[in-house]
Parts: sequence; structure tokens; C-alpha cells
Amino acid sequence: MATEHTLEKDQLLSLLTISQREEKEYLFKKARALADKVFEKKIYVRGLIEFTNYCRNDCYYCGIRKSNLRVERYRLSKEQILDCCQTGYRLGFRTFVLQGGEDPGFSQEALVDIISTIRNTYFDCAITLSIGEKSYEQYQELFRAGANRYLLRHETANKEHYTKLHPPGQKQENRLRCLSELKKIGYQVGAGFMVGSPYQTGENLVEDLLFLKEFQPEMIGVGPFIPHQDTPFKNCPRGDLDLTLILISILRLMLPNAMIPATTALGTIHPQGRELGILAGANVLMPNLSPIGVRKKYLLYDNKICTDEEAVEGFALLKKRIQKIGYELVTDRGDFRKVI
Ligand code: SAM
Repeated sequence: MATEHTLEKDQLLSLLTISQREEKEYLFKKARALADKVFEKKIYVRGLIEFTNYCRNDCYYCGIRKSNLRVERYRLSKEQILDCCQTGYRLGFRTFVLQGGEDPGFSQEALVDIISTIRNTYFDCAITLSIGEKSYEQYQELFRAGANRYLLRHETANKEHYTKLHPPGQKQENRLRCLSELKKIGYQVGAGFMVGSPYQTGENLVEDLLFLKEFQPEMIGVGPFIPHQDTPFKNCPRGDLDLTLILISILRLMLPNAMIPATTALGTIHPQGRELGILAGANVLMPNLSPIGVRKKYLLYDNKICTDEEAVEGFALLKKRIQKIGYELVTDRGDFRKVI
């Protein structure tokens, strides 16, 4: 019988502050070995479609927040979204992620129409949504229309910290309500947080780890905070690369079967950031399928990578890079499975 080892809060806190290169390498190696055992050196690909940058929310960290009047706003049409799916499908992708701001311009009816059209056209694909906070009924209707997965980072498990990252109208209780309802409905759910977000403490990160351990999400999004020049946090430092990698490793060890992406933000703070993420235990990549013309308008943070390469070229390049570190990019649905 496998014995489960659980670390106490202070042990987790001291893991977050390891500074010796050998200690870090040891942690990455352990996490990588576990990921290799569960996923057999396969890296799953999800095609990301950033379909709107309109947002009614005003998160202090986010480049597409409502108060940023310098953003040129866009909304893809249903046809444009379907074109992105077609490009992805031809590349072999069997998961589409529809991500956007909370855009009242897409009515519930319009979303149901788009999701059911994708479902009927690409019946062998998984549809992931990342469109923020909604009611139980809305989530349920989108699920019935054909969505399978939902990404909604909890952002921070600490209530006080949450209030420092969001305006008073955006409540942590509601975010957490959404996460538990999504799970109840039957979505594969993704939670997560930014590393190095303003005011974040080591204790906050431990709370995030324990929250995720308790919540048991199927997917975990963890990437560095990167400032955006037109937000209140423009002068705040970005999240640390090694700390992000350490957190990926700890999460892999805590939740061996979870789908954990090496995020675009990680690739933005270091030229080999995504490879390093994989070598620390991540097992998912999310190449961008959005039309080139809108990519520079979906800037959550400064200097975002992959804003000017075609999906096809970008994917071929990514494939080579991943092969170089001994992994294989696979395009199948890659649903969550409890392997160990
Ligand atoms: N509106 C949806 C939501 O709130 O879940 C999805 C889009 S939202 C822009 C996706 C994620 O981007 C957020 O959960 C947040 O963690 C991340 N993000 C936003 N601004 C960021 C920044 N400056 N640096 C790094 N990540 C950021």
C-alpha cells in the first residue's frame, strides 16, 4: 500500500525558500520523475483561442481590465472562432480553450450557440472555457451545450490578499462559489494563482498549496505575475522564475495526476521558461490559435511572447523545442485520468 506523506505548513514554507542550486535540482528531478511516470513523457497540447478582450472586471493586475482605456478592444465573431478551431483541428489539436474577459457582449445565448456548434462540428474534441464568474444555471447550460472543462484560477486563497488584488465589488467568496459549482456540475476544473503577485507572502503561497490539495482540481494554472504598464501594479516586480518552478514541482508532487501547463507567462520571463516548466513537472502547453491580428490586443502583461507567429509555424517550432528536451508533444484530448 502506498503511504501518503504530507508536509506541514512550516515544512512547505521552508521548501519555498530553498536557495541551493542542488536542492532545487533535486526537487525538480523528483517532480519530473513523477510526471514522467504518470504521463510517459507526453506533453499535452491545448489550442488557446482568446476570443474577446472586453472585460467588465477591474482586477488591478490585468492588462485588459475595464479601466485600461488604452486597450484596443476586440471580439471575434462566431465564424472567426470556428476558423481558429479549424486551424487547430488541422494541426491535430483535440482541445480548444475559449478564453476571454468577462464580456457582456457575448450573451449566454450566443455562448451556447458557439459551444454547441463547436461540439457538433468537432465531436471528438474537448472544449475548455475560461470566461470567468457566472451563475450555477449559466455554467450548467454551457456544460449541457458541450463544454467539458473550465479554467478559473482562484488567484489567492487568502481573503485579505484577494482584496488587495481586486476592487471591492469582486469577492473571493464568489470566485470560490464558482469553483465548487463547476466541480459539482461535472466540469474538469482548473484552479491556480500567479506567483509573485503584489503583496503575496510565503504564507499566502502555502495557503494556495493547501487550498489546491484540498480542492483537488483536475488542472492547475500557475505562472509568474508580470506587470502591465497600464495597470495600478505597473511598478511592481515580476514573479521569480525559480520560485515558480519550485511551486510547479511541489504541486506535481502533491497532485501527481493533475494537468499542469508550462504557461506563456513562464515563457515570457525566460527564453526557455516553458522547457524549464516541463523539466520541473509541468505536462501541458497551450499554443495560441487566435488570429495574428488580435494577439497584441490580448495583453494581460507586458512583452507577452508568441504574438506574431502563425499557429502552424509556431506549433512546428514548439514541437522541435520539446523534442530537444526529450519529450513528445501529443495532440489528443488528454482528459484527466487518475493514474496513481
Ligand atoms: N476572465 C477570465 C478569468 O478571470 O478567469 C479568464 C481570463 S484572465 C485574463 C486569465 C488569467 O490571467 C487570470 O486568472 C490571471 O491569473 C492571469 N493574469 C492576468 N493578469 C496577469 C498578469 N499581469 N501576469 C500574469 N498573469 C496574469
